[in-house]
Amino acid sequence: MMIFYWTAYNDFSKERRIDFYEQFSVLNYIPQFVTRIANLRLISVRLRHFPTRTILFLVGLSATVSGCTTVPEVFTISSTSDAVVPAYGRKDYGHALAAIASIMSRDFNLPVVDVLVTVYPSKASYESGAIAEGLRQRERLQQRGIKVLSEEEYIQSWKTLAVSSPAIGGYRNVHLENSRISTYRWDAWVKLLAHELTHSAQSELVRGGPSSSDRWLREGFAEWVGFKVADKFGAENFAEARQRVLDRIANARSYQTFPSLNQLVTASDWTTWMRTLGGAGTYGQSFLAVAVLVEEKGIEAMVRYFSLFGKVNNREANFLTAFGETLRSFVERFDKRATSGAIDPPDKATKEILAPQTLGGK
Ligand SMILES: [Zn+2]
Repeated sequence: MMIFYWTAYNDFSKERRIDFYEQFSVLNYIPQFVTRIANLRLISVRLRHFPTRTILFLVGLSATVSGCTTVPEVFTISSTSDAVVPAYGRKDYGHALAAIASIMSRDFNLPVVDVLVTVYPSKASYESGAIAEGLRQRERLQQRGIKVLSEEEYIQSWKTLAVSSPAIGGYRNVHLENSRISTYRWDAWVKLLAHELTHSAQSELVRGGPSSSDRWLREGFAEWVGFKVADKFGAENFAEARQRVLDRIANARSYQTFPSLNQLVTASDWTTWMRTLGGAGTYGQSFLAVAVLVEEKGIEAMVRYFSLFGKVNNREANFLTAFGETLRSFVERFDKRATSGAIDPPDKATKEILAPQTLGGK
């Protein structure tokens, strides 16, 4: 079977390869269906003495279950919807995603434009979805005359990404591996969906084009939106979540050397520190830096920062234009506060702005 896939893949033109990767997940299920049908025959042989109706019921049930577990579910999410937050603890993708998009658009002015969210039932189908996403990104960059890595290198790096991360937020596409994320606690599940939709909004702000925005700003802001949304859902209070991250960082700092924000700029910087330090020094620290920036300069400045890359792809100039302070000055200020352990909760005035505004749900 694999040989057939590989031969077929190599015969395809470049355009068709992307489609092929999307089809690949469906082809992947054929052996599973054959096994299922064989199993059903065995069941019906063993259940010979059962009434026909019972057997038909079992066959129907089995077909329904196999249909539910093997076909990826796709949701189209748009921030124009004014959705209601789902009931506390309910992991309903359609409702949750619509409510998140609504909060992102209304409260943070973030664009969620016809995003296709695919929920994959298995590791294999998720990997093929991720590879298709990578190849689409490669095509977009190529169309803009940007030099890109080879197709094989793209396939390899997006496959690696799919293995290390159970969710990917791309341009108008979000990919979720349900077999992994359905085991998350509800607050973490909600936060993850909002995190990925934020990456999708960041891509929308530059219309799918390239952006050399700092990684700590991209990840930190996705985390920030994630915590804000979790608060609105009644899943976890924002101020408490912020304090929890601070405590985790203080604890990790007692036995680890932390990177400066200057060392969390590129994709390779990020991967290296994630491998050596894990979440506290990377996601945790980036979230706090973004929280401080939003508290000081406002959410509009943050959204403006990401959209500026649609015009000029210059990280230092865009930081200065958006926040009215040089990147160097902010990083120095933040690193000094972080190393002295002085990133306290925001002052009273800021606290009022950041007070949880629960939309119901809990
Ligand atoms: Zn992320």
